[in-house]
Amino acid sequence: MSAPQRPSEAPIIHPELKAQDDPDAIVRGGRRLDHAEGTSKPLRTQPPEKQPRGAKIHGNRPIDQAEAAARFIAAPEHEKMHDERLWDLRQKRDREMHGIDEWEELRSLASAIKEHTLTHLDEYLDQFEANARSNGIHVHWARDAAEHNRIVHGILDDHGAKSLIKSKSMLTEECGFRPYMASVGIEVIETDLGERIQQLDNEDPSHIVVPAVHKLRTDVAEVFAKTIGTDPGNSDVHYLAESQREATRPLILAADAGMTGANFVVAETGAFVVCTNEGNADLSANVPKLHIASIGIEKIIPRLDDLAVFIRLLSRSSLGSPITQYTSHFRGPRAGGEMHVVLVDNGRAERLGLAEFWTSLKCIRCGACMNTCPVYRRSGGLSYGATYSGPIGLIIDPTFNARKYSNLPFASTLNGSCSDVCPVKINIHEQIYAWRRELVKRHEVPFAKRAAMKAAGELLSRPAAYRAAIAAAAVALAHLPRFVIYNGLNAWGRGREVPHPPRQTFHAWHEANRRGKT
Ligand code: SF4
Repeated sequence: MSAPQRPSEAPIIHPELKAQDDPDAIVRGGRRLDHAEGTSKPLRTQPPEKQPRGAKIHGNRPIDQAEAAARFIAAPEHEKMHDERLWDLRQKRDREMHGIDEWEELRSLASAIKEHTLTHLDEYLDQFEANARSNGIHVHWARDAAEHNRIVHGILDDHGAKSLIKSKSMLTEECGFRPYMASVGIEVIETDLGERIQQLDNEDPSHIVVPAVHKLRTDVAEVFAKTIGTDPGNSDVHYLAESQREATRPLILAADAGMTGANFVVAETGAFVVCTNEGNADLSANVPKLHIASIGIEKIIPRLDDLAVFIRLLSRSSLGSPITQYTSHFRGPRAGGEMHVVLVDNGRAERLGLAEFWTSLKCIRCGACMNTCPVYRRSGGLSYGATYSGPIGLIIDPTFNARKYSNLPFASTLNGSCSDVCPVKINIHEQIYAWRRELVKRHEVPFAKRAAMKAAGELLSRPAAYRAAIAAAAVALAHLPRFVIYNGLNAWGRGREVPHPPRQTFHAWHEANRRGKT
């Protein structure tokens, strides 16, 4: 007779998952699909809304973020879903933050550690290099994107590698790494699900943490139907994820080399740390024998003890979860393997010398500023036409190309919410404002905008003229034909209605009621 099963060995099934009384339950193979899968009931019967595409890129011409944002807003299902998903992340972040009494101290400490490290960057990079080499890691230095790509290509060539599995890395996006690899005949396979969706759709990531957050699952179904042959009418998330896994897993297992980025690099140990929720960095690092890590030089922190501060802040700020599912430490090659680290500058040293903007290098790429930004949430990350979108993008992108990204610092309400949520206390909204001034100084702002701002400045500095203008505007607004305000030349009037002017201005009311009384 078999021994009775002890309670600890019995499978624990939540009553809801048994689906006994739920008429809406979806049951497969005798098992109710769990929470995420259960959301896969069809959204609608009519054809799905088409996914709006990102900004149009014309060489070095300024990106028209407003035009791309208008197309995103004109797709109501996408705009609503995007806004709600990101606001949900912001709320989860707030709940986590309220659970930690010392949250503000942690932010201050993280900021201080980063500022200390950045002001001693050369020393800590040297320390990391020496320790990494003694751990058996090959360390390379790349001045820019082109050198990074050449170095990685050289390593792959030395090993005869023709395919590379890669975990999500914004640095490699910055370097144009995938197009470069395609041009030299090396296949790159993304291991992060969102990034793989974007790769198959030939699109850049739209968010630094959740790269395909702008897509409805019907968009994903369309991409997979075209690229891996799934049923175009089936947008069940379980089906889509499983199909993608089945299509990609053989490529991962057969890859010649693996690549990761790094969230943190520890100078005192010569090790680096990668945080993911899918464990995909571990696939890239552990399946092939050759592991290459591409790392921006600003990712360095002095000590292992410092890591705890950032680990407590990172996932809480980005996804509102206490910690990422995987926090993987890499200290050297595994037995029989080879590990290379490529430390990349690509404009960072120059940014460090910019008095008003150097603290943007503290960024730990959590995405919290994007999740909270009202402009980002309603316009989608691809509308920025740049590697980095949202508030952090507004202050980093112009350091790469001030002309091309000259419109971006104006895509902000300057409400300061981005600075409030930033775990490393970057004064993001002040830097956005500083970039506006800088771009005017560099003549990178269109003449019409400069002239309008100059005229507004003159008017606002002369109280009498300002009051006269307000009175004239009130009369004009009441009597002028509509097309005078709502025309193609007035960007402000697109999507906005000017409110009816009040019968009495605040100044007139104050004169009549409060003068001499306060
Ligand atoms: S600027 Fe701050 S909030 Fe934004 S991604 Fe970087 S660390 Fe996160």
